[in-house]
Amino acid sequence: MEKFIESTEIRRKVLVTDDEVINREMLKMILSRDYDVDCACNGEEALNMLRQGSYSLLLLDLLMPVLDGFGVIERCAHDEQLKNVPIIVMTSEKSAEVKSIRMGAADFITEPYDMPEVILARCDRIITLSESRTIISSTERDDLTNLYTRGYFFAYINRMLPNIECNMDAVVINLDRFHLVNELFGRPEGDRMLRETAGLISERLVGDKGIACRTEADSFYVFCVHRDNYEEALVDIQREIEARTGAKSVRIRAGVYKNIECGQDVESCYRRAKTACDRLRGGFGAHTEVYDNDMHEKELFDERLISDFSRSLENGEFKVYFQPKYNIESDVPKLSSAEALVRWTHPEFGFISPGQFIPLFEKNGLIRQLDEFVWDKAAAQVKQWQDEMEFTLPVSVNVSRVDAFDPLLSQKLTGIIDRHGITRDSLLLEITESACSEDSARFVEIVNDLREKGFKIEMDDFGSGYSSLNMLTSIPIDAIKLDMYFIRNMLTDETAFRLVKLVVDVSDFLGVPVVAEGVEKQEQLTVLKAMGCEVIQGYYFSPPKPPENITALIEKEIYDERHR
Ligand code: C2E
Ligand code: CA
Ligand code: CA
Repeated sequence: MEKFIESTEIRRKVLVTDDEVINREMLKMILSRDYDVDCACNGEEALNMLRQGSYSLLLLDLLMPVLDGFGVIERCAHDEQLKNVPIIVMTSEKSAEVKSIRMGAADFITEPYDMPEVILARCDRIITLSESRTIISSTERDDLTNLYTRGYFFAYINRMLPNIECNMDAVVINLDRFHLVNELFGRPEGDRMLRETAGLISERLVGDKGIACRTEADSFYVFCVHRDNYEEALVDIQREIEARTGAKSVRIRAGVYKNIECGQDVESCYRRAKTACDRLRGGFGAHTEVYDNDMHEKELFDERLISDFSRSLENGEFKVYFQPKYNIESDVPKLSSAEALVRWTHPEFGFISPGQFIPLFEKNGLIRQLDEFVWDKAAAQVKQWQDEMEFTLPVSVNVSRVDAFDPLLSQKLTGIIDRHGITRDSLLLEITESACSEDSARFVEIVNDLREKGFKIEMDDFGSGYSSLNMLTSIPIDAIKLDMYFIRNMLTDETAFRLVKLVVDVSDFLGVPVVAEGVEKQEQLTVLKAMGCEVIQGYYFSPPKPPENITALIEKEIYDERHR
């Protein structure tokens, strides 16, 4: 069997337990050639030491005062922390050998200790066996790059970290725009680049105490001796990659989490390194980012938001605001609907922007619960306005990417609609365009299903994702909401202007109304109106407001209608 990691120079720690000082000294002398050796003089002391230090092997005398060897084997077998430490018993009695092996000892050595090589070989074999057993994954090498696999990588670190004396760093490395190489030059060329990169990482970063693995296509994890500065090495690797492959657009970036501590959750160190690495995505500045205190604070803050979520929802800290949308086709703008937007006032942090918690809740799925809450409030509000003012103001709600692919989506929505006794076309569904680029075939099915059930779908943030204009012809939708970015820039940026115009023209051809959101100025409104854009949402008319304020707008609308 192959040894756990051949290349490293890590010295394992072994514990010798014997009440006779001469035996302890003999064994210590023999084993010190290959191991760091500690000694205990009875079973009780051995157990204490095992719990504190991380030992790769226990050599155990059977006859000892206080707690004998059998007692130790028995206690270890029933102890979660200690049950994986292999034990070799030292004895001269045949019957004791058999008994101890039955109880769980891995091997035995007989006195006198006159063959050091045999003892060392037996220890080595038992350690190797035990370490191999802790590796869950059957494959340890990545075929393409010959780096380790992710499973092996983490098993190795978890096993070895306590034995390594120097400080170690967690590094996550990624190649920006690597997919271009595959697309433009083909897979073999992409594979070659990955192999070159892996080779360079091993050569320039890993060192003899570290190891590296490939986790996904173009993502590498490195475990290496701490260094203060990685930038130089990364610049060097970048230069080499360019020289060897000729690909200039691919850019290497690394996130670093420094000084992994013993006992720390290793995977979380790599998550942090990845957080740092993600900061550099698509950039052209430095190649390295270190996980720092700010990122840590943000992480803690995010954790706090997640843990406070349920309580906050129960305590009514989430409120639903509404932002009106106006139809501008005629001279007097006509209130046509409103968008429900959630607001969180936290008892300690005060107002928290949805931009901060929505992406977070989308990541961990809490968004489903929050959205259901918003849909329910929105439907209740539609009903209340109907009852109190005899006016139906359709309200649009946001359906997050996560909700869109929820198999229970239409069931949840119909449940809410029926419970409040409103019609399906009075709860408009805003689904973001990026949901479509995730899985467009499935997306079309979902939208079709919802529309068959009588819901109206607005495609939100149109133009922000990757989907193209011709997608509009294949997805049956009821309105397009142009991404705010284009509205904000259309008066100063020719491309944005032309895109807005194009979308309005195509939608006109398809008979789908366009909603422009983020309209703040009269000038924008005038231009949009001239283009043929039907509906406007934005600070120009009103920011999102609590329902009471919308009530006033409805009153005005009713008045206007009577006098039209
Ligand atoms: P969105 O769906 O694109 O919502 C429009 C955002 O633009 C809202 O930000 C709104 O307040 C803001 N806005 C409207 N008019 C203007 C304007 O004239 N100028 C500027 N600068 N901004 C304007 P908000 O409320 O901060 O929400 C941000 C995003 O968070 C929303 O973008 C939406 O994606 C998400 N979100 C908000 N509430 C919910 C919710 O209940 N569920 C889900 N899933 N997402 C929500
Ligand atoms: Ca929206
Ligand atoms: Ca939007």
